[in-house]
Amino acid sequence: MESQTSPRLCALGLVAAGHRAPEVCAPEKNMFESFGEDVFSQRLMRERLPKEVYVRLKNIGHGGRTWAPYDADVVASAMKDWALSRGATHYTHWFQPMTGLTAEKHDSFVTPLPDGVGAISEFSGKHLVKGEPDASSFPSGGLRSTFEARGYTAWDPTSPAFVLRHSGTVTLCIPSVYYSYTGESLDRKTPLLRSINALSSQAVRMMKLLGYEDCTSVIPQVGVEQEYFLVDRRLYSCRPDLVMSGRTLFGARPAKGQQMEDHFFAAIPKRILAFMSDVEKRLFALGVPMHTRHNEVAPCQYEAAPIYESCNVATDHNMLTMEVLARTAGDHDLACLLHEKPFRGVNGSGKHNNWSISDNTGRNIMEPGPNPRENLPFLLVMAAIMRAMHLHSPIWRIGTVGASNDHRLGASEAPPAIISAYIGQELEDVIDSIITGCDPGDDECKVAASRRVDLGVSALPELTKDSADRNRTSPMAFTGNKFEFRALGSSQSTATINIAINTTVAKTIGDICEAIEDKVAEGKSGVEAAWEVLPKFFKEHRGVLFNGDNYSDEWAKEAERRGLPNLRDSVQALALYDTPEIISVFESQKVLSQAEVLARQHILLEDYIGRLLIEADLTSRIAATVIKPVALKWLGLLAEVAKDAKELAGENAEELAAYKDVRTIISELNAALKDLDEAIKTVEACECGPLGKAESARDRLLPNMSKVREQADRLEMVVDSSLWPMPTYADIFWSI
Ligand code: ADP
Ligand code: MG
Repeated sequence: MESQTSPRLCALGLVAAGHRAPEVCAPEKNMFESFGEDVFSQRLMRERLPKEVYVRLKNIGHGGRTWAPYDADVVASAMKDWALSRGATHYTHWFQPMTGLTAEKHDSFVTPLPDGVGAISEFSGKHLVKGEPDASSFPSGGLRSTFEARGYTAWDPTSPAFVLRHSGTVTLCIPSVYYSYTGESLDRKTPLLRSINALSSQAVRMMKLLGYEDCTSVIPQVGVEQEYFLVDRRLYSCRPDLVMSGRTLFGARPAKGQQMEDHFFAAIPKRILAFMSDVEKRLFALGVPMHTRHNEVAPCQYEAAPIYESCNVATDHNMLTMEVLARTAGDHDLACLLHEKPFRGVNGSGKHNNWSISDNTGRNIMEPGPNPRENLPFLLVMAAIMRAMHLHSPIWRIGTVGASNDHRLGASEAPPAIISAYIGQELEDVIDSIITGCDPGDDECKVAASRRVDLGVSALPELTKDSADRNRTSPMAFTGNKFEFRALGSSQSTATINIAINTTVAKTIGDICEAIEDKVAEGKSGVEAAWEVLPKFFKEHRGVLFNGDNYSDEWAKEAERRGLPNLRDSVQALALYDTPEIISVFESQKVLSQAEVLARQHILLEDYIGRLLIEADLTSRIAATVIKPVALKWLGLLAEVAKDAKELAGENAEELAAYKDVRTIISELNAALKDLDEAIKTVEACECGPLGKAESARDRLLPNMSKVREQADRLEMVVDSSLWPMPTYADIFWSI
């Protein structure tokens, strides 16, 4: 039998021979001292800027607008001196176009002197404030055509600049927004900043009505839990599906996958710990307050979470975290997979967006306190969130769309596509007592007091019971003093969901304020008026609360009965993006104009179509040119063993059966491939607009890809393992 070493065997050989992962060594520097050393921080600005400039700059973050024209020059000069002292040679406006990634175009600080000898470093206020990358290839959804390709970046002073180190280069990165010549946003940061402003002004309006005169701004706080997979880079490189689409399009079920759930919180493997520690060091330098690290439930799956920060900075920091995870992996001979579903049959990766709102005095309005029944700001915001989820849930659902996240949502490992909230029995009782108007002092009135836990071990300190248990199946779970939104995908920017939450909650806080103001106009105090309107809002939106199992079929039925939308996939959700109700919410809060909404719908649909077509094309090519040739080779070998099948029938029944078996699968693979290729042609040729084309891609490509995969995976189970061309699930899962 001819022997040939497949790329898979070569890669497995390298893995078996060991790797050069560095040891975890003690950090060279005190971790606490090096935190934020590559950030142009508040402290540095206070030290390096004239006091009045520093104060004006700081006030921008709290809604201040008094910015003197020369301030930019002063800040630019200080920023440049600092960046040069950190070794920077280039600067870039670092922005977040609609690709879902970050973008950067580096410019050198160097300007040659006129006589041609030597150079000086130049970086003025003009360079800091505005840039014009030739960015005609970024998606604009029709807001710009290539012949009028002007796009501008503008400095976002509310997120600190930092220097990024990579392969010996040091670049000053200036967080920026990105917009078109006509002033429409072409990125995710602009609407995020607008949504933060909208939320702040409505929440301040509410707090003022309740008599909190010291409240001048309210900022959403966000902590992002990031899940990811790590696999050996050499095995990864032999999987064109992983390299190009981020997920495995083939792969039979391994004998051992996730059945034992023994990976969850298990001891972190040495090689992975070295990686995590390296990631943390790099992120600490960038001022990202990484806090938690652990193994997740699927093999090779891990999680990292920072301490929460203001929504805008947390979003920038999550983008940086994803970038640092991916880059650091390469240095450890690993590949970091941020895709929502890299492997079928084991859990995918999500991103939990923990959200609360706190004001300029540091008050967390989502903190129920010892007596939530009397905590009016908390109750009003709770009512506003329930109303936002009830009336505007398609906007939230749109905040989670993406071809890759469709593999997770509703797949019994992530919340369903139905948007509901879990707040725990204790708070539900509080809300019900407000709806019924019963007196909390009354025995009839079911308001649970804070309870203790008795484990029957006297040596333990007194343990209090949290106001709510956990509900891992709920898309929006109240966890103590924040909501945890769990439907976001691991690769997604947190901007999208926070734009949705901030905007809709701003809208509904505004609705509640209007109701209060109507009563204030009749002579009531703000507090009296608030108590009067609260029961009505709680009653109207009680239906979004659900404490049970969100993965169950009963919930899908019950949700339908309650009239809660169930937008099962991205295309269904995106189809609603341009409806007048959604556009009017975005317009009312000045977060997105109609043109911007339409452009975003277009971009997201195109993104969906593009990804599916790439996956379909890859499926076809890999099946035809990588898997089928190996299957044919195996068939030839079987034929050789079985000699002339007819002649040997009866004597060599086993060999003949094996031969026939493989031949049947190959012919079924051929048929499936033919169908897939036709489907690809049909979708490509479809002149049915982005929505029609996305529907066609969803309905034609996904099922046909599955059929091809089914046959290819059957082959993997019967072909000689030494011939199999691509690393299998078992190879990948159990090589670290
Ligand atoms: P969990 O409750 O999910 O086990 P943690 O309590 O560690 O985990 O919090 C998860 C994330 O939520 C972390 O990033 C944490 O900083 C963040 N977080 C904690 N409190 C708040 C808050 N008030 N607002 C927003 N995020 C918060
Ligand atoms: Mg969590």
